[in-house]
Formats: sequence, C-alpha cells, structure tokens
Amino acid sequence: MTKILDGRAVAKAMRAETAAATERMVAAGARPPGLTTVLVGDDPASQLYVRSKVRASKRAGFRGENILMEASVSEREVLDVIDRLNADDAVDAMLVQLPLPDQIDREAVLERIDPAKDVDGFHPINVGRLWIDQPAPAPATAAGIIELLRRSEIPMSGADAVIVGRSAIVGKPLAGLLMRENATVTVCHSRTRDLEAVCRRADILVAAIGRAAFIGPEHVGEGAVVIDVGINRVSDRDVAERLFPGDAKRREQFETKGSIVVGDVDYMRVLGRASAITPVPGGVGPLTIAQLLANALEMSRQRQGLEA
Ligand code: NDP
Repeated sequence: MTKILDGRAVAKAMRAETAAATERMVAAGARPPGLTTVLVGDDPASQLYVRSKVRASKRAGFRGENILMEASVSEREVLDVIDRLNADDAVDAMLVQLPLPDQIDREAVLERIDPAKDVDGFHPINVGRLWIDQPAPAPATAAGIIELLRRSEIPMSGADAVIVGRSAIVGKPLAGLLMRENATVTVCHSRTRDLEAVCRRADILVAAIGRAAFIGPEHVGEGAVVIDVGINRVSDRDVAERLFPGDAKRREQFETKGSIVVGDVDYMRVLGRASAITPVPGGVGPLTIAQLLANALEMSRQRQGLEA
C-alpha cells in the first residue's frame, strides 16, 4: 500500500511546536521572535504567499509586520528598507518576497540582508555555510522536505536520492541537506541524459521542475518514495480530467476556479509504484511556511543568546 505523506499534518505539528516554544520563551522573559516580510508590487501569487506567512507568524506568537512597497519603487528604496530592518534589534528574521520587479536587482537585495536575519537562507554566506555544514538558516522548502522525511521515518542514510531540478531555491539546497543526512545524491536538470533511467534508480525521488505531471511511472522505481515540490496550474479541462479521471472534488474545483493545481508528478499513474508519495496540494507546500517559522524561531533564539 502506498503511504500518502500528509504535509499538512506534519506542518501543523511543526507550527504547534514553534508556537509552544515561543510561549515558553516569552514566559521566561525573552521577547517573541520578530519576523518581517517585504512585498514589492502587487503580484497576486506573492500577495497570497505573504498573507499566509504573516498569518502563520501571528498564530505562532511572533511579532513583525509586512512592509508593502509599490511596484514602481527603486532598488535604492528597497535597500534602504533592508538597511533599516538590519539595524532594528526587534527584527530577528526577514524576507523579501520573490520575484521582484524588473528594475530591482534580486542579487543586490538578497545580499543586502544581514545573513543572521536571512530567514530564507538565500544570502551567499548562508548558501556557503550550508555546503560546509555550518549552522545557517536553510531554504525552507528544502529543509521542510528533510523534516517530512525524518518525521515519516523514511531512511535517508545510504539512500539513493535523485532530485530533478537544480534551482538555488529548491534543488541545490536540498542536495546539500540530503547529503548531510548521508544520502547519495544525484541532481538532474534539463540536460540530463536518460532522465528516466537515472530517476528509476532512486530510493527517494524529488521532483522540483515546474512542469505539470512531468514525472510518470516510467521515472519511478518500484517502492520509491516520491516527493513532489511542483505547484502548477492546469486550466485545460481535458488535461485536468486526464490527470485525475473521475475525481469529483477536483472537477468541482475546476468548475469554480477554472483551473486546478497539480504537481510535477503524474500522481494517479505513479501512485501504484511508489511506497510513499506527497500529494499536491497538501504535501510539500504547507511545510515551507512551517519551516520558515522554525527558522525564524531559531534565529531569534540565537540573536537573544537563548538555548534551544
Ligand atoms: P526553476 O524553474 O527555478 O527550476 C526548474 C528546474 O527544473 C531547473 O533546474 C530545470 O533545469 C529543471 N527542468 C526543467 N525542465 C526539465 C526537463 N525537461 N527535464 C529535467 N529537468 C528539467 O523552478 P523552482 O525550483 O523554483 O520550482 C520548481 C517547482 O517547485 C515549481 O513548480 C514551483 O512552483 C515549485 N515550488 C514549490 C514550493 C513549495 O513551497 N512547495 C517552493 C518553491 C517552488 P535547467 O536548470 O537545466 O533549466
């Protein structure tokens, strides 16, 4: 029987632990973690992500604000906001929601954030620390996947892990973290030769590609654990029906929203081959915010000189 890895349940447990730790911290006289988000422009998906992060942060008992900036702001203005947050002692952690408008250089912004406050772990110093096994905030999606595997008691040590996707946000940091767990890691991308054969070797197969239902049963070895990072919108009714035939809930979603969200894995066709699999939605997605809060809590502890 294939085990469905319930990211929502794991994320809920993680958020509850963070909230409880925050409560204990405050009861002991420390200040609550301060997490500030910066949103530039009015991209609807970014607004949605930031709203979810702010809501989860409040629920965990954190302090902080969301700073909204017009899409037309200059890079200088964004850097000034970051400088102010870097200097503000009540801010333990911050993030600038990506993507940024074209006039703003993403690298300049990410590098301006004090590495000790870089909750996304995107600053080059934190990227470097991850690769030399020094303590640093790790990108939340990747670290959240490790947490899911650990809590689901999926052995990572000695496992063959294959990641499809080499982005700086997901694929690369996950490779570093899986290696730290003693997995043997292969990272694939658009130039990988015979992707199917490489993927079939995996005990743990991670899809972080950004292409709806790209990974099929031909990529999955019998009994593999399949982690689907993808978030893709399918607005073609025939494609939606083909991916989830006869699924009344998804059909209803399609009728109301005009699209459904699917992962990078062809879920229904892969289901029978995998020993465990994350659904989309409800798999990796919820872990990202839960891990972000865990990162912020840890950063606050460190800035306040508190023990974990
Ligand atoms: P990127 O677009 O930055 O990277 C995609 C990667 O997939 C690239 O390395 C690319 O290879 C590879 N790729 C593309 N096509 C192929 C192919 N035909 N065969 C093999 N590899 C291929 O994406 P992200 O890492 O940012 O995101 C991946 C997915 O995860 C997206 O759907 C995104 O929405 C989702 N996501 C979900 C999150 C969550 O919280 N659940 C968080 C972040 C992302 P190459 O480098 O050669 O171009």
